[in-house]
Amino acid sequence: MTSAKRVASLWGESSGTCSCCGRTSRTIWGGLHADGLARATYFVQWTIGAPEHDVHIDLVVGAWGEGTSAADRALIAVLYRPSPEGGSFKVIDGSGRHARQAKLCARSLPRAEVLGTPIAEEVFGFLDAIWLGDPRIAEVTALNNLV
Ligand SMILES: [Zn+2]
Repeated sequence: MTSAKRVASLWGESSGTCSCCGRTSRTIWGGLHADGLARATYFVQWTIGAPEHDVHIDLVVGAWGEGTSAADRALIAVLYRPSPEGGSFKVIDGSGRHARQAKLCARSLPRAEVLGTPIAEEVFGFLDAIWLGDPRIAEVTALNNLV
């Protein structure tokens, strides 16, 4: 079995004010290619300096490009849990995040449809590509030192 080479490209970012504490929240997004083929768009959302806030990673996975539509893609939702040991990822049920990405994908995957399937291997490959390839993630991993 060969493992696909997954690469992250950086697209956009936005900032806002957290409604609960007034701190700055940030969302960044980009694209993920596997072996040269567009496979996913990712969004990472966190609150700066606030490790007690959820860090959401939304992966919109499926077919992209000409002739494709939202019906060809699904949302997979992941939480990042900061910790002094380096943090960890947890796939969560995607339904609570779907409204945010409804323009891009017609449905979301429940956790049970991801874990223990080939999709999980791809998801963790994407997470690696984001964490290694997107320097903006440094602000997320900085949360590990605040836990
Ligand atoms: Zn807050």
